[in-house]
Order: sequence, then C-alpha cells, then structure tokens
Amino acid sequence: MGRILFRDVSIIDGTGKAPFAGDLLVEGNRIKAVAPRGAAMAAGDAEIVEGRGATVMPGLIEPHAHPSFCNTETIEGLGAIPPEEHTLLTARYCRELLDAGFTSIHSAAAAKPRLDVAVRNAINAGDIPGPRMLAASPEMTITGGLGDVRLHHLHRDTFGYICDGEEEFRKAARLFVREGVDTLKINPSGDEGVPSARARHTVMTEAEVAAVCEVARSREKRVAAHARTAESVKMCLRHGVEIIYHATLADEEALDMLEAAKDRVFVAPTLGLTWMTLKVERPFRADLPVDVRRTLEFELENGAANMRSLLKRGVRVMPGGDYGFSWNPIPSNARDIEHFVNLLGMSPLEAIVSATKWGGEIMLRGDELGQVKEGFLADLLLVDGDPSKDVRILQDRDRLLAIMQDGRFRKRPPMQGQSQRVAAE
Ligand SMILES: [Zn+2]
Repeated sequence: MGRILFRDVSIIDGTGKAPFAGDLLVEGNRIKAVAPRGAAMAAGDAEIVEGRGATVMPGLIEPHAHPSFCNTETIEGLGAIPPEEHTLLTARYCRELLDAGFTSIHSAAAAKPRLDVAVRNAINAGDIPGPRMLAASPEMTITGGLGDVRLHHLHRDTFGYICDGEEEFRKAARLFVREGVDTLKINPSGDEGVPSARARHTVMTEAEVAAVCEVARSREKRVAAHARTAESVKMCLRHGVEIIYHATLADEEALDMLEAAKDRVFVAPTLGLTWMTLKVERPFRADLPVDVRRTLEFELENGAANMRSLLKRGVRVMPGGDYGFSWNPIPSNARDIEHFVNLLGMSPLEAIVSATKWGGEIMLRGDELGQVKEGFLADLLLVDGDPSKDVRILQDRDRLLAIMQDGRFRKRPPMQGQSQRVAAE
C-alpha cells in the first residue's frame, strides 16, 4: 500500500479550527495520521513531500455544480448539443473542476437525463478523471417555467424537462430514478428574466412537489429545488426537499422553517451567477432591462441577508454559484468562497468549512469526506500560502501545488525549486 508523508505543512482540517503546523501521513486512499509539529511520525518507506510551510487542506466540494452546462451563452444552446458530444463535454468540465481543486461535486441538474449519470459512472469506474460526483436529473419544470423557452410554433430544448400535473411529474421522477440519478431537481419557483415565471412567482403546485418527493422518498433519493420565493421554500419543506437552492426571497416564516429542519437541509444561495450577471462587463448585458436589474440587485442583497440570518441559526449555507455559463464559467467556482467572505461576512475559515466539512455532508459522506482527519479519505490540496487569511488563493490554479484524490496525486507536488519559492515567502 502506498504511503505519502506531507512533512512540515500548515494544516487546515476543515472543521473551522485555526491552521496548525504538523505532518500528515496518507496510506492507501485514506489519511493514516495527523500529528502536530514535533510529534514523532514514523515515515518508514513513505514518499516524502516537503511542505516547507505550505497549507494542506481538504479538497474543495462544490454543492451546486452544472458540469453539463458547458459554459453556454444561452440555455437553448444546450439543447442544440447532440448527446454524444454533450457527454464528452460534460466529462471535460468535470476534469476541469478536479484540476481546479474540486475533488467532489454535488450536481444541481444535468442538461440531459443521462449526462451526469454516464459521467459519474465513468469516473467511479476509473475510466476518466473527475471529482467524486452525485448525479442529478434535468430540471423538472412546468410549461412556461424556468427552462421552457419553446414558442408555440417552435420546439427548443434546454436543461429543462417539462411536466404539468402531478402524474407527469411522478412519471418523470420515476424515469430519472430508473436511469440512475442520485438527486431529482425541480423548479418550483421562477427566475428573473423568464417573462412567464419571474423570480417572485411560485409556479409548481403543492401536488406536483409532493409527487416528486414521494418518488424520491420511496427510492431513498433526495430532491433539490430551485426555490426563490418564500412560498416555494415552504412548499419544499412541507414535503421533505433536502436541498434548497437560492431562498433569496424567503420570508421570516420560511427562515424559521429552514431553521427547524437544519439537521437535514442544505441551503445554497448561488450568489455567484447573480453577482456576475450584475457586475460583469459585456456588451449585451448593458441592456439588462431595468426591472430585471433591480430585482437581481434586490435578490443579491436580500439573499445575502437571508443567508446571514440562516448562518446565525445554525443552518448549513453552502457555496456554489451556478458556474457553467459563459459569463460565470467553470472552473472559476472557488470564487463563491470569496463571496461568502465578502457578502455573508463569514471568516475565511468559516467559508472553508462550508466548502469542505459541510460539503462532505451534502455528499452524504460526512463521516469520511471533507476533513483532514485520521481515517478520512485522502482528498487533499497542498496550497502555496494561507487560505485562512485570503480565500482568493484558492482561485489561482498555480497556487494549488498539489491535488490528491483518493490517495493519488492528480497534480503532483512541485520539484524542489518551486518548494523553495514557497519557503522564501
Ligand atoms: Zn443551477
């Protein structure tokens, strides 16, 4: 069994504890030992990585990934990609996420029913490189909801799978479970910029949400929801949805309900896409309609306030900002961790917890994933610098000196010369 010793590293363990100097031994695919500096650790025949003070931390975990969105310019652009090419592209974006330090991803929807499933299976089989992955269905949406861009005379596909009425939702949920997804995605609320289903609109019925949740519950699957409105959040919680995306327009009652369910729910506001839509300079965004811009600004502000309140109440608020569009591309996903510091007022260490320890929990592997701890899976980053002082380091691929997944280097640590550069800083 291979043994690798990281010597003289600063360890961020993912629990929120301050970084401490020490050594770390990996044996096979797990962390064998973590010892503070000065404690004896028998290296034996282990390969030695001289850290020279660089940081070892858990691999990043992305709670709202869309590897099949392929950095598209428009949502209907996704419908124009044939399944074969689309599968290859999904594999490519998974690889890019791994190379950006994301050793696990929780998908928040695939653009076609089997894209996530096929790529997850190939990664698990060791056929292609990629993060550990939970696979999602396409976004189950209604006629005129987010993801339906058809016109009466014109068929167009997106990431949406259109269902109307509880029977159609139930059938779609059963279909996606049959095809092997881990998570069923529903769109109970609209989105700003969708004229027939705005962000303030709750568009799925109680019976439709209930039908999907019933299928999920009976098959031990989870449901994730695009839920912006207060009513959509409440409806989801009434029926057992465990992953609430956005909650940007949640009211006090919805926040109370989220707090009451805090041991089983995860909330991810996906601030990244809204932030980039408002901030990014690109010609065709200049004509963002005034009312849409105003709503997006409100959602960013109100969403951040809601998340600050939820964090105080002990709810797990997760990063993941809908990366996968041309103006908010994969693999810049780690920018959301910076948003958590700047917009939610979290300390860098707290933001790292939400991207590591809580990430392990949303992956349903909190007992072995997302922490630097003895017995845990060896998904690790060796980082040039101290992310607990500045999380922006995590966005710079050159600062990720090594990426380890399942005890194996995806990116090997640098040669001696570069290690000395770390020491000199
Ligand atoms: Zn999304």
